[in-house]
Amino acid sequence: MTKKLILLDQDGVLADFEQGVRQLWQQTYQQPLPLAERKHFYLRDDMPAQFHQQLAQIYSSKGFFASIPPMADGIAAAKRLLQAGHDVRICTSPIQTYQYCVSEKFDWVCQHLGEDWLQRIILAKDKTWVRGDILIDDKPQISGSLIPQWQHWIYDQPYNRMQNNPHRVSWSRLETWAQLLT
Ligand SMILES: [Mg+2]
Repeated sequence: MTKKLILLDQDGVLADFEQGVRQLWQQTYQQPLPLAERKHFYLRDDMPAQFHQQLAQIYSSKGFFASIPPMADGIAAAKRLLQAGHDVRICTSPIQTYQYCVSEKFDWVCQHLGEDWLQRIILAKDKTWVRGDILIDDKPQISGSLIPQWQHWIYDQPYNRMQNNPHRVSWSRLETWAQLLT
């Protein structure tokens, strides 16, 4: 296996962002998240405008980012890639209301992956500035001010299925592991 520098996005790849929103929404507003079908990357684009304010409140509330549950197999996947000999980094973009988001992203990594992984966090609003061989990210298209050095491998989610990408990965797919471990 050739050693690669693998950048892992946090939300939607390691952390189950949508599930986190559902949980806190229910807890806060005592009703389920008004979300039918996922077609767009941003949750708000799949929700009626009348709820956008409440959604923004969830994102910026204390405790939200730390409370997001891990994706199925996400933690094991990150550890497995590292153990296999790759250089694995977590490449994540904090939201504009960063006040709790930034520190709680660190809390999350510490809680679920362990303290050793804190040194693997790269915060970047523009991921094209980060070097790497592969960026595994659920965002359909990743743009920025530089030509990326990494190849974007899309992490399969219902809201990005319209996006063509020759590399579509998921932690539960054997094919993903064949591609990443050979
Ligand atoms: Mg993401």
